[in-house]
Amino acid sequence: MNIRVLGAFGNEGPGQRPTAFLVNDRTLVDAGSVAGGLCLSEQLAIDEVLLTHAHLDHLVGAAYLAETFAISGTPRALTIAALTPVVEAVRTGIFNNTVWPDFSVIPSGSPAVKFRPLVPEEEYRAGDLRVIPVPVDHSVPAAGFIVHDGTSGFVYSGDTGPTEALWRAAKMIRGIRAVLVECAFPNRLRDLANVSRHMTPERIQRERDKMPPDVPILVYHVKPAFFVETADELARIGGDIAVVSQDKVYSIY
Ligand SMILES: [Zn+2]
Ligand SMILES: [Zn+2]
Repeated sequence: MNIRVLGAFGNEGPGQRPTAFLVNDRTLVDAGSVAGGLCLSEQLAIDEVLLTHAHLDHLVGAAYLAETFAISGTPRALTIAALTPVVEAVRTGIFNNTVWPDFSVIPSGSPAVKFRPLVPEEEYRAGDLRVIPVPVDHSVPAAGFIVHDGTSGFVYSGDTGPTEALWRAAKMIRGIRAVLVECAFPNRLRDLANVSRHMTPERIQRERDKMPPDVPILVYHVKPAFFVETADELARIGGDIAVVSQDKVYSIY
């Protein structure tokens, strides 16, 4: 399985794009950025977005991609899959004909977007992938995902503070080869991380015992404003923890 990092950050900066990962060229896990890292034909090859929650730094690329589908002339729909409250937030908050066109009804006859509400902790198929959405602890309804191809897989936290169900579910699945976990703020902003339900390096250190053992931890979603400070603190944790590199492709088997 290939995981291409389209956006590694929790906000935008020069050369720093918001959170998005492309799995096996077809499935996006979050879509904070899409077109910034992909040419047009690569964008049009995408089938589905697994959306953790409705915050813009995970979503705005899907809004743009929907328009790209709509004007491409190809009669294909982009599926946006998420927990039901997240689908509702995206429908009413983004694709509402005020903030952005409602691409679930246009172009008429062949709409560019299809919503797929997901049931918590119920496995479903996204192309060749098996996906389990598990609710996590963020400031809005949010899920992490366990993504598996039948042989190997990874855990993706989405945005969350300390959490339980995701790690518990992940430990039940064989073949987990990586944990992708968010980290938004450095340790000195722990109060902000607490109210906004995000990780800091010290929180990740405490979460480690709950994660599947002996797999690499790949950290994403650091806020660009605190990148150097946060990356230094993560490096001091030691062990198999690394900040993901944007545009890199990680292969797991
Ligand atoms: Zn975020
Ligand atoms: Zn968020």
